Amino acid sequence: MPATVTVWEKDPALAARITVVPAPDITKTPLAFRLIPSLGNNPPQAVEFRYWNAAATLRRAADFWAASSQAPVTWRGGQVIDVFLDRSEGLNSEYDGTTLSFYHGSTVAHPTLVIYSGESPDLLCHELGHAILDAIRSDLFDAEGLEVEAFGEAFGDMSAILCAMQLPTFCSFVLAETSGRSFWSSSSLSRVAQQFGSALRLVKPADADEDCLRNAWNNHFYVDPSTVSKVGLADTIWNNAHSFSRIYTGAFFEALSAMLPVKAGGNAPGPETLRQVSDDMRDILVDATRSAQLVPGFAAEIAAAMIEESDKYHHAYPDVFQGVFIRRNILPQAIS
Ligand SMILES: [Zn+2]
Repeated sequence: MPATVTVWEKDPALAARITVVPAPDITKTPLAFRLIPSLGNNPPQAVEFRYWNAAATLRRAADFWAASSQAPVTWRGGQVIDVFLDRSEGLNSEYDGTTLSFYHGSTVAHPTLVIYSGESPDLLCHELGHAILDAIRSDLFDAEGLEVEAFGEAFGDMSAILCAMQLPTFCSFVLAETSGRSFWSSSSLSRVAQQFGSALRLVKPADADEDCLRNAWNNHFYVDPSTVSKVGLADTIWNNAHSFSRIYTGAFFEALSAMLPVKAGGNAPGPETLRQVSDDMRDILVDATRSAQLVPGFAAEIAAAMIEESDKYHHAYPDVFQGVFIRRNILPQAIS
């Protein structure tokens, strides 16, 4: 095993954003992994890169969630989860309740450009987010209904964003990128799965935002699921968990951006401040996920739970969350 490995920070589309990290121990508990296939002898360089990139990213993400306030102790299926690094052909990645699977695919427009979903830390962390949610609340993972299914997708996208914020080099990069403008803006942090999104957009235009798979910097407002259309365009909310999830993710990222100056306490936020608010958002998400009731109108239920739980981490946070949730119509004005 090498002492260090080279990995993407967040997404292959951010081609300059690579970093060197200690080689991970994927067998470490809690939340151990088995990567399939294992590395073998003398693998092609690209296969070796993808293996260590996935191993290091998943280890970092699992360690992040395992450090949460009410952390899962095991996966739903036990101590070790199987991860298929390249299961078959397709523009896809999935958590099926038992395993994580990643695929490879290309588009008719660019047949020689092969996209490996398991090469993107954003997608690795998104799918791991599904598995974490399932480990915490399997009833939520199994539940049907647009609001609760979409929350699972938002939990996955927040996993991608929050896990990227564990890397001080990436935090410094995003602070420089957003310098002179609001942190609440489109950035390398807010754009989830840029490379994969650019391919999926060519095949399914309604399934990807214009600049990535899903941008957490968005202005989507809550709409009653019974009123949304069955199909829609990329910039509208329609009857699809990924589409609907952008309402939650937008609200969570907007709240995260407003938590930053609160945490910085009047000082300019540094990379460490970003890591601290990512920890707070993780804990608020986990606590609210544990306490929210599975009821019709789940969006308002989880929002109310997040407001309540956020007070444990900073007394100014409840107002931040309440303001965002009301502005986005996730909570009615009357609750305030
Ligand atoms: Zn998902």
